[in-house]
Amino acid sequence: MADLPPLRDIIARHGLSASKALGQNFLLDEHLRDRIAAIPGDLQDRAVLEIGPGPGGLTRALLRAGARVTAIEMDRRCLPALAELAEAFPGRLRVIEGDALKLDHATLMGEPFAVVANLPYNVGTALFTRWLGGKKWPPAWTSLTLMFQQEVARRIVAQPGTGAYGRLAILAQWRGTANLAMKVHRSAFTPPPKVMSAIVHVTPEAMPQGVPARVLERLTEAAFGQRRKMLRQSLKSVPGALQAMQKIGIDGTRRAETLTIDEFVILARQLD
Ligand code: SAM
Repeated sequence: MADLPPLRDIIARHGLSASKALGQNFLLDEHLRDRIAAIPGDLQDRAVLEIGPGPGGLTRALLRAGARVTAIEMDRRCLPALAELAEAFPGRLRVIEGDALKLDHATLMGEPFAVVANLPYNVGTALFTRWLGGKKWPPAWTSLTLMFQQEVARRIVAQPGTGAYGRLAILAQWRGTANLAMKVHRSAFTPPPKVMSAIVHVTPEAMPQGVPARVLERLTEAAFGQRRKMLRQSLKSVPGALQAMQKIGIDGTRRAETLTIDEFVILARQLD
């Protein structure tokens, strides 16, 4: 096992002052990073895709846990520090310079992989929507372990009947399981962000039969786009939705947040 200098020293030696534009907030606590790397389960010899390794703090923890890591980083300043890490773990770390939003992750990995990332808010949600949406299921990834603002994490794991329940919860849970794995205090980051964070862990489940993702997405977009309205009003714009609702016995005076994920799935199946 490689004996590495403290991350603080690496950051200082390579002049990696945190860039606000790139959403950089580094995790300097080694113990915390190890706990995050343990969330996906045993990583011994497993392929892991890390997005945004920065100076490589979480990357070290993943490598120490035995993972084979591919890391995509768009900040060139971090590449020399990551190259040192690759040298310390020969053949186990591949670093790709680029924008994770522009790369095809499945092709890049070429085998099933776990995703672990501590990303800026906007990039995290864009990738999350991409990983969980679309036709192909099961996906190429085997689990997602992602840091979000606590408020977004709550929306991802939300249950019906709560204010946080909406499109993100349905996207994450209609063919997957989503857990709030760990809350992370803002003081754990350098520099500390304004809000609290939390890590969400998502694993794929079987896809419900006969429900195309795009039909469900269209329904939830319309229903939660006007979440305070009754469904008979908010779903007017979706052709056939009111008839489908009547057919399966969903009362049109209900509001979107009262429908369970199963009810949305049944409605989407009926619509298709
Ligand atoms: N993983 C490190 C940690 O936990 O200490 C750094 C986390 S920092 C919040 C986010 C990292 O993501 C930064 O290094 C930033 O340069 C990188 N990043 C931001 N947008 C990215 C993108 N679109 N593709 C790849 N990396 C990105």
